[in-house]
Amino acid sequence: MTDPHEAHVMVLDDEPFMRQWLVRLLAQAGFKNVTACEDGASALQQVDDPSRRPALILCDLNMPGMDGVEFIRKLVEHGYTGSLILVSGEDERVLQSASKLVQAHHIDVLGSLHKPVSQQGLSTLVAHWRPTPPTAKPPPNNRYTVRRLRQAIEHGELITHYQPKVRLATGEIEGMETLVRWRHPQDGLVWPDQFIGMAEAHGLIRALTHTVLVQALSDMTQWQQRGLTLKVAINVSMDNLHELDFPDIVTGHVQAAGVPPHAIVLEVTESRLAHDLRAPLEILMRLRLRRFGLSIDDFGTGHSSLAQLRDMPFDELKIDQGFVRGAHSHETNRAIVFASLRLAHELGMTSVAEGVEDQADWDFLKESGCDLAQGYFIAKPMPAD
Ligand code: C2E
Ligand code: CA
Ligand code: CA
Repeated sequence: MTDPHEAHVMVLDDEPFMRQWLVRLLAQAGFKNVTACEDGASALQQVDDPSRRPALILCDLNMPGMDGVEFIRKLVEHGYTGSLILVSGEDERVLQSASKLVQAHHIDVLGSLHKPVSQQGLSTLVAHWRPTPPTAKPPPNNRYTVRRLRQAIEHGELITHYQPKVRLATGEIEGMETLVRWRHPQDGLVWPDQFIGMAEAHGLIRALTHTVLVQALSDMTQWQQRGLTLKVAINVSMDNLHELDFPDIVTGHVQAAGVPPHAIVLEVTESRLAHDLRAPLEILMRLRLRRFGLSIDDFGTGHSSLAQLRDMPFDELKIDQGFVRGAHSHETNRAIVFASLRLAHELGMTSVAEGVEDQADWDFLKESGCDLAQGYFIAKPMPAD
């Protein structure tokens, strides 16, 4: 099916007036096959019927009997693969967490509509919507074997790209973040989400980090020779911080390249909970004492937490892009960005916002007093030259 206007669309709402209103708005938006249900049970019957199964459901959250949240769980149990729009009179935070819940169930959420629903609000959400083909499969993971990744590291197939970190007050480039890519002979450029986790899980992260560090130092000295003095950030996995010789190895490479340690920033992300913090603490302390920059990456997510900030000697705080993007118009994210900036400021740390995607993001962060920005609005990651 190509024309979205031919798709089956369902309105689920217990209030008769609201049901009629939404059906009318959908008709005005050009949808020709709109049905309405007043409770979850009859909606599920329709989902189970192949001839009437909807490709898009507008679901009210507050309903007597089966409420919207329970209905969504049942939708998953009934194998629903279509899209969803949440409708509610609740405030933005309730709608946001409901959206997150739906996404966690791997249902495509187009967004949420706050009651009273306007024609424009609905049109904006459905403007680019296309029905999901029923055969769509999730992308394959585990595409690469450990052995193949090891070979890639040994054969120099990993390359480094760089994304600028820019000072918001002046627009000057402060430094570059190194982001690894795999130049796969058959598949082209492969992104790190396809192989970092595997490298961590199978003891390859040490070799990977060393390859990245050596390349970054070499590129850095090339830039230096052309008169460009830039700090360089390297991503370090928490697993690196269990090797007690890590500070000496890094220091050795940096000295050999003639680069001062304060020009290197190590960005640390912890994706899983570390049980024994003694080794990471010792390693970070020693790196700090040697004047390396230490950045707490993805701050506010996973294990990048207040406790880490308290216990580890970081001097840079990178606010996770999930909070930054669109923060100016998102109440909760804006509050989180403000609080993170204040925290960084009071602890004397450099603040960095990542995921700055447009002028509005940039203006907001500049006004909020954030130090550095990074994101597609400034530049995408690029090869060294
Ligand atoms: P990260 O350290 O948080 O890096 C930022 C990621 O966000 C990069 O993805 C970057 O390309 C992307 N990004 C930057 N600006 C924007 C923006 O404005 N919008 C959006 N949507 N995305 C933006 P990338 O290169 O795919 O890297 C993903 C993650 O892989 C990195 O997240 C980092 O955790 C990890 N990684 C990358 N290189 C290395 C490495 O050499 N070693 C280790 N251990 N991890 C690495
Ligand atoms: Ca990073
Ligand atoms: Ca990040």
